[in-house]
Amino acid sequence: MERYINLKRALGQKYFIIKDEMKPEKNSDFERKRALMIEIYKELKNCRKCPLHKTRTKFVIGAGNVDADVVFIGEAPGRNEDLQGLPFVGRAGNLLSKYLNEIGLSREDVFITNIVKCRPPGNRDPLEEEINACFPYLTRQLDIIAPKIIVTLGRYSLSALLGREVKIMKERGTIIDFNGIMLLPMLHPAAVLRNGGLNDKMRDDFMLLKEVISR
Ligand code: SF4
Repeated sequence: MERYINLKRALGQKYFIIKDEMKPEKNSDFERKRALMIEIYKELKNCRKCPLHKTRTKFVIGAGNVDADVVFIGEAPGRNEDLQGLPFVGRAGNLLSKYLNEIGLSREDVFITNIVKCRPPGNRDPLEEEINACFPYLTRQLDIIAPKIIVTLGRYSLSALLGREVKIMKERGTIIDFNGIMLLPMLHPAAVLRNGGLNDKMRDDFMLLKEVISR
């Protein structure tokens, strides 16, 4: 039951309301995408493709709208995310929500996930073999959602997506082509919490995101 509640929270609770009059406008594409995402959820539940399954409390598939224009990708679940089964909770998550609100979006308007779905012990960086094992889930999620734009949060997720070393301070705030999808690298909110001087750069990047979405 708890898993089901987490699934509801992850994949858009409002869309699970049963009364017809409370459902959003019928959208067969949304239903198709949600069904495909639930398939991934079921696979993650039993996934043992890398050693991170041994130490996780809960896997974190992601959260938000499976039909979103924007997908945010972080590195990996941290301690709170591992406990709750949800991405970007805690102070960094609150800051992310604040930036979204400032451009007129909520977490329900976007989809938020990570490169790997289980927490690396002690919040260490995921190992290459762990990323390689988990990456196909992310690829499938992106295929399902088909967003207009991907936003990576922090150096690590950008590097994992592009498959090369990156300089996040140089590449943030620029639009990159990622297999035909726009990719906007941003700083990780946790970096802004550590260094308040980065706040303006983050705001600039969210303003760029707002502009790209409205094109
Ligand atoms: S991190 Fe990904 S590949 Fe590894 S066990 Fe978790 S879901 Fe499976």
